[in-house]
Amino acid sequence: MTVHLLPDLPTRIKRCAHDAGFDLCGIAPVCDFGELHVFPAWIADGKHGEMKYMEAHDEAGELKRASLARVAPWARSVVVCAINFNSAHPYSTQVRSEDASRGWISRYAWSREDYHDAILRRLKQVEDGLRGLLDPTGKWPLATANLRFRSYVDTGPLIERVYAKYAGLGWIGKNTCIINQQLGSWLFLGVILTSLDFTENELTPDLPAPDRCGTCTRCITACPTQAIVAPGELDARLCISYLTIEKRGDIPNELHAGMGRHVFGCDICQDVCPWNRKAPATSAPEFEPREGLVNPALDWLAEMQQEEFREVFRGSPVRRTRLSGLRRNAVIAMGNSGDRKFVPTLQKLCADSDSVVAEHARWAIATLGQES
Ligand code: SF4
Ligand code: SF4
Repeated sequence: MTVHLLPDLPTRIKRCAHDAGFDLCGIAPVCDFGELHVFPAWIADGKHGEMKYMEAHDEAGELKRASLARVAPWARSVVVCAINFNSAHPYSTQVRSEDASRGWISRYAWSREDYHDAILRRLKQVEDGLRGLLDPTGKWPLATANLRFRSYVDTGPLIERVYAKYAGLGWIGKNTCIINQQLGSWLFLGVILTSLDFTENELTPDLPAPDRCGTCTRCITACPTQAIVAPGELDARLCISYLTIEKRGDIPNELHAGMGRHVFGCDICQDVCPWNRKAPATSAPEFEPREGLVNPALDWLAEMQQEEFREVFRGSPVRRTRLSGLRRNAVIAMGNSGDRKFVPTLQKLCADSDSVVAEHARWAIATLGQES
């Protein structure tokens, strides 16, 4: 069924997104974009590591994330919204001497509220607004009954940053993040898939933002594990974010040193990006940091018990690494700290009931011993 859209509908949708608290909003058509063509080869090379969800296939055996048109044949457009989560705290690369022996949790994971909930709530508001725009009097429910909308935060069968680019929110930097010229790259993305066809109605689609990385290669040079294997291409198996969040069990010894003091995620390739130098702080209170998560004490994390983990990280993305992963990461960071004050704690942890924590504690003691 063809739905005739008001010419100013895209502008009104963006106003709805702004009213819901989003900083950016754009609309991209569902297309077979060039960036999606490299995804199957990336998966085939195994560069996604153990992130099995990325390998999800449809009934025809095709990768779901490679083609939205196959997975959601009803979808014609994607409304992409973004919100700035930056807060006014120094970057991980601006380490003060008193913080050198403390850990680092990625900036996006500091928030008071789970960002999935915070974004989804706003997307639902935009979705409702959109329905209201299509049937302002509520007298024509049939006009909107056949229209479909699906909102996603991280969980949709699409590569959000590709759609964010074609919705005009920013370009995909060499560090693989969406970068907006005014806001930088500290952005949470949310998408609404919709059966509304803007091009069929001859409404001007948003244009992709031009690439402004230019000759800069700061992120590639600064990455401590050489995980950016080509401009815009990550080998997740080397990336600290993957190792500290997605990787279960042992982390190979040869990768420990590069992990530095990171206990959950890594911000280095964004911290060094010139487009983040003047990134503004968010006005959304739910993205203000929880207490204790900026430069957290490593021994606190390494000795944390399940009950405290549940309490401290309730509704936090940090839960994804689970208690065992967080303690393992803290122990590796202790080994990398060069600070022998951690030795008594590590000695205790060598007998920990979690064999992964115990194994990495032995590595950390050996590493600190070599440095003395
Ligand atoms: S997140 Fe860290 S490890 Fe991963 S690519 Fe960026 S700088 Fe490298
Ligand atoms: S650091 Fe430079 S190359 Fe990397 S994403 Fe930022 S502008 Fe692009």
